Amino acid sequence: VKITDNAKHPAAVLTIAGSDSGGGAGIQADLKTFMASGTYGLSVITAVTAQNTKEVRSFMAVSPEMIEQQMDAVLEDIDVRAAKTGMLADSSVIKAVARAWNRHAAKDIPLVIDPVMIATSGKELLKSDALDTLRNELLPLAAVVTPNLRETEAILDMAAGSIDSVQKMDDAARLISKKFGVPVVVIKGGHLDSGSKVVDVIFVAATNSATNVESCRVNTDSTHGTGCTLSAAIAANLAKGIDYLPAIKRSIRYVNEAIQAAYPVGRGNGPVNHGY
Ligand code: PLP
Repeated sequence: VKITDNAKHPAAVLTIAGSDSGGGAGIQADLKTFMASGTYGLSVITAVTAQNTKEVRSFMAVSPEMIEQQMDAVLEDIDVRAAKTGMLADSSVIKAVARAWNRHAAKDIPLVIDPVMIATSGKELLKSDALDTLRNELLPLAAVVTPNLRETEAILDMAAGSIDSVQKMDDAARLISKKFGVPVVVIKGGHLDSGSKVVDVIFVAATNSATNVESCRVNTDSTHGTGCTLSAAIAANLAKGIDYLPAIKRSIRYVNEAIQAAYPVGRGNGPVNHGY
């Protein structure tokens, strides 16, 4: 075991998300990212998926009561410095997470919300009738929200495919921040047809400024769990006390390097290499 100076007393970070039995996304990606970022990972499991690199075969949501009990257990005891949410399955799960989170509001923990909706392989990971609950009960609790293009369109009730430029990403980031009171919005541009570059847009309400972060597009199928990994890295960097904009930039760089370093796993869309 290699113990670096940072690892002698790592900050605690919590993920509230679904399990990916294939190990590439969800809770598993989050915990690997937390460890690679030099933080101590905690996990509240919201759903269990039967999944490999090719498909999400089925899932079962954990009961709302059990989710709240997991959250109370860790938040009453451990000094959690930042948290993230991932797959939340349905409206009753979102409500349970919001209820439990509100009981611990006095701790003022930054919450990163990855509004997971549909897996790359096509499976719906959040019931479509849960969108209003996500908008009204979860987004107002967020310090940061990290939608991809389709999730951005769904949150803003726009037609699928209508965000087709960096300028429209910028407009949408400002709108999500304003409508739902989210201090920092990160719109992930991986699905934008933007040639050899990928552009992510970070809008910070406190300074009313948007920053475009450009990365080199990596030509690979090993992108399973990239969204989970980004939101986990942001939570870990915030837990370490890094400010929002540098924490997010560093996390985007981590995901890009993790995609470049991917190795073959399974026969479908393999995971990124989280490192250690
Ligand atoms: N499974 C779980 C539990 C997830 O949380 C997610 C994404 O957040 C996925 C699967 C989908 O990952 P991808 O779309 O990268 O394949």
